[in-house]
Amino acid sequence: MPMGCDHESGKGDWARLPNGVMKLHPCCSKCGTLKNVSSDRGEKMSYFIITLSKLRKVLRERGYKMSEAQIRLIARELSETEGFEDTWWITFSAQREIFIQTVRKYVRVPRDLLEAIV
Ligand SMILES: [Zn+2]
Repeated sequence: MPMGCDHESGKGDWARLPNGVMKLHPCCSKCGTLKNVSSDRGEKMSYFIITLSKLRKVLRERGYKMSEAQIRLIARELSETEGFEDTWWITFSAQREIFIQTVRKYVRVPRDLLEAIV
């Protein structure tokens, strides 16, 4: 997966969806990456930044202070994770898993709490 391709729709290709159905997928004409055309669409980085401030609020109510530095570190690691912001192909489920794992590296927070937020 080349980094930084600004993807352009090219001709389609048949591909199998996770549910087993064959579907015509548009490919990027520059790098050939198959576009994610499922309903499980990735979100932009701003969505996860909003989720982080939601998390901060929830934790504050529980008496745990999440610092600006922690938020910055998490946001930076997410944006440095290859493909995380590439909504051409990434699914929300994949982003969600990366998000949960990354947050838990920096903040001691139970997984089910994160699953309820993101
Ligand atoms: Zn591309």
